Amino acid sequence: MNRTYDLIVIGSGSIGVPVAMEFARNKQSVLVIDSLASPGQGQDKKAIGGIRATHSDKGKILVSQRSIEIFSQWKELYGDDIQWQANGYSFPAYREKDEKILKDLLKIQQNFNLNIKWLSPEEYRELNPGINMEGLRGSSYSPEDGSASPLLFTQSSYFKAEGYGAEFRFNETVTGFEIENGNITSVKTDKGLYYSANVLNAAGAYGKNVSQMAGVDIPVNPDSHEAGICEPVRPFMGPMVVDMREASGSKNFYFYQNSEGQVVFCLTPDPPIWGIKNRATSAFLPMIAERMINIMPVLKNLKVRRTWRGQYPMTPDGFPIVGKMEELDNFYQAVGMCGQGFMLGPGMAELIYRLITKSYYSDDLEILKNFDPYRDFKGQEIFK
Ligand SMILES: Cc1cc2nc3c(=O)[nH]c(=O)nc-3n(C[C@H](O)[C@H](O)[C@H](O)COP(=O)(O)OP(=O)(O)OC[C@H]3O[C@@H](n4cnc5c(N)ncnc54)[C@H](O)[C@@H]3O)c2cc1C
Repeated sequence: MNRTYDLIVIGSGSIGVPVAMEFARNKQSVLVIDSLASPGQGQDKKAIGGIRATHSDKGKILVSQRSIEIFSQWKELYGDDIQWQANGYSFPAYREKDEKILKDLLKIQQNFNLNIKWLSPEEYRELNPGINMEGLRGSSYSPEDGSASPLLFTQSSYFKAEGYGAEFRFNETVTGFEIENGNITSVKTDKGLYYSANVLNAAGAYGKNVSQMAGVDIPVNPDSHEAGICEPVRPFMGPMVVDMREASGSKNFYFYQNSEGQVVFCLTPDPPIWGIKNRATSAFLPMIAERMINIMPVLKNLKVRRTWRGQYPMTPDGFPIVGKMEELDNFYQAVGMCGQGFMLGPGMAELIYRLITKSYYSDDLEILKNFDPYRDFKGQEIFK
């Protein structure tokens, strides 16, 4: 007789792997299916590893705060080094309007008890000595934010998930569902048919396609971003730098030095590049190199090792889509993580466990409202 799982997860990425671990840890049977050859091979490995709780809304703040607790205790709890470092985030402001946005946001963030403050240019230079002081008005600084390796974290979570009993099927693509009386009765792949009480769409940039297989449309679209990494050098940087200014061909960009001494960087193209094409362009590196050297001239001697392109699974308002679908009794979404799926992952996995098992904490329903699949999508996350 065919086995019926408590949960089938479609996608073994930033969300699917921690979800599998959480379910298996709680003794639920879980199967994860992914088209690719091993965990984290979708957008997860494209992430540059930035982790912050300093968002602008309660949902993302609380989920990320829990993620930070998990990332920061990972080595102690599970023995694996995921290169976590609490290097912090900073948003240096060179324009009056950016200073105002950041200072207004800072009040909201402090109301959520986030450790974030405003630094004068001189105070900021103490943290990031190479910063361009010309026109610098100050910077926000959140010392408890940080960074870790998506690759190491997802690998470690995968092995823990397997250890707890989760099953994974790689090189296998979900192609459809069998549906009866408003319920998904089985998940079809190119290799077989699987049965489960509940199904979770965690297919990232392909979340819309997977959802459409169940007859449900959701607004998640792949938005290409490029990134790169330098050769390691001795530690010289403090917090992650996020430059909010626009320039020709790009919006904001951000970079930090990881625990191995490599500077990792990423840029938001303008206009956006929609769709899934994974070849890095020749335009990206000259564009970001000029901008990085402008804001931190000391970077000019770094050697770039490689660049790559990936996709943010974007929603129109910049908030994730997490919740149960009304059209089907046992179909859940955990998609649309935008540029923050890695940092949200472990905290979101616990929230998804409580959602599916209906074992809510007091704040959960309020948090989930922000991620409601049926919201009007007219709002805007300030830093999506
Ligand atoms: C350049 C770049 C830099 C980034 N930097 C950061 C950062 O610093 N911090 C941060 O938090 N986030 C960052 N992100 C965003 C982050 O990578 C994503 O938000 C996150 O990986 C999304 O997680 P996910 O689990 O939804 O999707 P993924 O990790 O992509 O996982 C989805 C999985 O579903 C599988 N799948 C899809 N369709 C099917 C199907 N039909 N059948 C079977 N399997 C299927 C895919 O193969 C894939 O493995 C960055 C992204 C990019 C591109």
